Amino acid sequence: MTTSYQSIDPNTGKLLKGFALISNDELEKSLAAADSCFQSWKYKSYAERALVLNKAAELLRANVDNFARLETLEMGKRIDEARAEVLFSADILAYYAQHAESFLAPTKLSPKTGAAHMENSPLGALLCVQPWNFPYYQLARVAGPQLMAGNVLVVKHAGCVPQCAIAFEKLLLDAGAPAGAYTNLFISYEQADRVIDDVRIKGVALTGSMGAGRSIAARAGQNLKKSTMELGGSDAFIVLEDADIDKAIPWAVWGRMYNAGQTCCAAKRFIVLDAVADEFLAKFKSALEALTPGDPMLESTTLGPLSTEAALIKLLAQVDAAVKGGATLLMGGKRIDRPGSFMQTTILTDIMPGNPAFRDEFFGPVVSFYRVKTEDEAIALANDSDFGLGGSVWTKNEARGLRVASRVDTGMMFVNNLDWDDADLPFGGIKNSGYGRELGNMGIKEFVNKKLVRVSDADAPV
Ligand code: NAP
Repeated sequence: MTTSYQSIDPNTGKLLKGFALISNDELEKSLAAADSCFQSWKYKSYAERALVLNKAAELLRANVDNFARLETLEMGKRIDEARAEVLFSADILAYYAQHAESFLAPTKLSPKTGAAHMENSPLGALLCVQPWNFPYYQLARVAGPQLMAGNVLVVKHAGCVPQCAIAFEKLLLDAGAPAGAYTNLFISYEQADRVIDDVRIKGVALTGSMGAGRSIAARAGQNLKKSTMELGGSDAFIVLEDADIDKAIPWAVWGRMYNAGQTCCAAKRFIVLDAVADEFLAKFKSALEALTPGDPMLESTTLGPLSTEAALIKLLAQVDAAVKGGATLLMGGKRIDRPGSFMQTTILTDIMPGNPAFRDEFFGPVVSFYRVKTEDEAIALANDSDFGLGGSVWTKNEARGLRVASRVDTGMMFVNNLDWDDADLPFGGIKNSGYGRELGNMGIKEFVNKKLVRVSDADAPV
């Protein structure tokens, strides 16, 4: 399968710009440059690397509007969300510039004799394959920690955000990164496989769908290379009968509708206890009805387009299949009658096991609503998922919220909030949501050699 790199404005459907795939010769030059850069980058001090990352953060902040407008143009993110993403990306770069040295400092061990410690050294060039839904944040999430750790990156970004891909590469070069430290590659899937096979590549980090995960993790596995997989999710939003409904509703809207619903850890399955289900559903529905579709460049718009026409067609088909499978369409379900790839806000109820909607991820403004009788039933339903990325629980009783959070099988749980925006918080999932963690003090340790060094003058055993 091949891919193409095309900027298409999803607000209008107009092709803005197309980019050719690079040749295998150009790919070879890029891999050689990455490998050669690694030979010196790995010996730079943390302070030297931090200069580049801090400068990149500064440039992002100074040019927030330019970066934001580009992503709004290419994938339709509402402009205020795009600005926030650019600023958060800057925070991530600055966070690792500040903390990398302490995160990777040697740790002392206590052997029976002599002394020992663990030290962390970079592995080399890594391939990063990234999705379009956060065109800069996804790149910052790997570039910040991995460049600070002393690794270098070759990056295959998603086909629909090529201008953002180029802008981020330019950002790092403008910030003083040496050639080869961060290289954008417009490559096909076959070329991505060649990169994984290449002996100079020491690890692979993917954020994307389960299908991409299966293919890329398998290739990395064949090559016995370390990989991290940040894949999809179908996160539960569990509303207990003692929840503050009026506080939960705006979070429900934000949690489902942020980025037009195209977020891996968005709230996707709303699991509400019977006692408050009618009230929650009525208030949630009217809040969703209040969203107004429009040009994502305008701050007044509250519902932007989906990223591509293909994404819209897939989502419409999923909703149709859900209804054919017995689900009730409480609202929406159709494309919006205007230019661009806009989907109505949609609520599905009565989704039974066996309906494809019960297990699949809906990547857009589609709510799956479930009514349950007890807390135990809510937890069982939340856990009856092939995914295990995140989730949230809503209750006025914090101890109860913490108890429920502990029993839900995911990589992340939030009690009375869905506040993901913090570079300090490790991000990632279990089950089909993948493995490994990004951000925090864990993300930077995924691609380092954790080396044991022991010093002792003991005599050899006889
Ligand atoms: P996708 O189709 O899997 O694409 C992600 C990236 O993988 C793109 O760069 C894509 O390239 C590339 N790709 C796909 N198959 C490939 C293959 N066989 N070989 C090499 N590269 C391949 O996912 P998406 O639709 O863009 O993104 C949405 C998915 O990502 C959702 O499932 C979402 O939940 C997940 N996601 C997860 C996280 C997380 O942190 N867990 C964060 C964001 C998104 P092309 O664009 O050229 O096809």
